[in-house]
Amino acid sequence: MTEITYIGLGSNLDQPLQQLRDAVIELASLPDTSLITTSSWYRSAPMGPQDQPDFINGVAKLQTSLPPRKLLEALQVIEQAHLRKKDRHWGPRTLDLDILLYGGQIIDDTDLQIPHPGLHLRNFVLLPLAEIAEQLTFPDGTPLVLHLENCPSDGIVRLSSGDPCGTTD
Ligand code: AMP
Repeated sequence: MTEITYIGLGSNLDQPLQQLRDAVIELASLPDTSLITTSSWYRSAPMGPQDQPDFINGVAKLQTSLPPRKLLEALQVIEQAHLRKKDRHWGPRTLDLDILLYGGQIIDDTDLQIPHPGLHLRNFVLLPLAEIAEQLTFPDGTPLVLHLENCPSDGIVRLSSGDPCGTTD
């Protein structure tokens, strides 16, 4: 059975846009998975410690028959291949990949929570997600647009328009 899943991508180290563009290609190459579309890239100030570069974030929509845990493992392999550096909570990182949503499933295990717990709180996730899935409803029935209305969009800048090989660096 295939499901639609939304993956959040983020980077603020080692040429973040290139990290993200490469990651999109790698997501598209996952087994039993196809890339449906990607959002624009968005630049925002880091959460937590401010003594680090701005983050670039975006969202990819995939269709996959990998079960959630296999998908998580595959994302972690991609992160490792990007020589992920992550020294502290909310600190700088080469590549961060999160499963935001997986079909209409709700998973609440120690190592995997879907929807991703930060999803409805973060404008750098909600904005790109809304760009590619404006009509989306979360598994608890809440429309995405409702979360978006409650989430300030200040401090975030859209860089490119839907092109995983966007032109803005
Ligand atoms: P972080 O690097 O801060 O995103 O956290 C990575 C950890 O979050 C991993 O060890 C995962 O097991 C855990 N995790 C829990 N839920 C998710 C999710 N929906 N997507 C990605 N990682 C998750």
